[in-house]
Amino acid sequence: MIVVTDVEADIVSTALNLSRVHFDEQYLEKGGHGLMIMNTMPCHFLKENSCTIYEKRFEGCREFPALHLPDFQKRIFTHFMHYERCPIIFNVIEQLKIDVHFEKELN
Ligand code: SF4
Repeated sequence: MIVVTDVEADIVSTALNLSRVHFDEQYLEKGGHGLMIMNTMPCHFLKENSCTIYEKRFEGCREFPALHLPDFQKRIFTHFMHYERCPIIFNVIEQLKIDVHFEKELN
C-alpha cells in the first residue's frame, strides 16, 4: 500500500501536467483511516523495473523498506510480502536467518 499525501499528489500531478482531479481519479483511492493510496499494485509508475517518477516519488517509497525505523518486527509481514521482489529485504532476511541459525525443517 503506497500512501500519498495531498502535497505529494500536488507535486506529482504537476510534474505529470495533470489536474489534481484527473490525477486523483486516475491513480488514487481512499484507504483506511481516510488516507489516500495508490489504486494499483504494482504501482502505475513502475515501468520496466524503474520508477518513472523517481525524483518525485512518495515518502513511503523513499523510506521503503524502512529498515532504519524502529519496530522492525511489527512490519515483518510486509517484509515477507516483498521478500521475493525486493533485493534489500531478501538480503536482510537471509542475513537474519544466518544470524539466528535458522534451519528449515525437512519432512
Ligand atoms: S518508487 Fe515509484 S514505481 Fe515504486 S512504488 Fe514508488 S512511485 Fe511507484
